[in-house]
Amino acid sequence: MKCPNCSGRDIGKIGTNQYYCWSCYIELSISNGQLHLHQVESDGSLSSLDDLFTEDERQIDL
Ligand SMILES: [Zn+2]
Repeated sequence: MKCPNCSGRDIGKIGTNQYYCWSCYIELSISNGQLHLHQVESDGSLSSLDDLFTEDERQIDL
């Protein structure tokens, strides 16, 4: 799988269906066959980046 944001493959697993891209520092989670992207803010909260990508771009590419 590769990161839809930076196309990097430096992705680490951080939990069940949860991954982290070490290239662009976003969190990826998988549900219903789609990726959901989140940016970790400096205060530790998550903001969704899903709006920046089309559904095609968020399809899981294994
Ligand atoms: Zn990335």
